[in-house]
This record gives sequence, C-alpha cells and structure tokens, in this order.
Amino acid sequence: MEYYSDLNALPYDPVFEIEFECKNCGKEFSRKFDSNVEVRPAGAIGPNFRGIDEVHGNRYVAVIDGDKYPIECDNCDIDTSLYELNREPLNK
Ligand SMILES: [Zn+2]
Repeated sequence: MEYYSDLNALPYDPVFEIEFECKNCGKEFSRKFDSNVEVRPAGAIGPNFRGIDEVHGNRYVAVIDGDKYPIECDNCDIDTSLYELNREPLNK
C-alpha cells in the first residue's frame, strides 16, 4: 500500500525513507514518504518515542493531515510488530 500516492491527492514526491524490521517474521523492508507525512509509533507520547518495544515491535502509523494509516509489513502484513531501524532523508 502506498499511502503517499493512494491516500492523499498529492503527487508522489518522497523526501525521506524509513527502514523497518518486522519482529513477527524477521524481514526488513523500507518505505518512502512525502514531506507532509509524519511517521511514528502509534502509541508514542512526545518526540522521544518513549515506550518503544524493541523486542516485540510496535504499531506504526503514517499520519497525513491528521488521519492515521497503519504501516504493514511487506512480508506478513502484520502491522503491530514493526521496529524502526533507520530513517534518512532522500537526496534530490
Ligand atoms: Zn512481517
């Protein structure tokens, strides 16, 4: 699923990429996001992401205009066991 292009009307123009590890199946995958998308653990409070479960993973959401879209593993489609490995800007 491509939140940035399917669920908002903006053109596809990713500015950052996040690598996730799925704690359910063990696979790693990456997703690219537009500048208007905020990606964070669903239950996170504050900018420091307290409460992250490094063992079992977390539910992540892409927040676009206040709406939350769960991020699913590419391999097993589970959306509650993700762990963020890396986040970096994309060079234009
Ligand atoms: Zn998985």
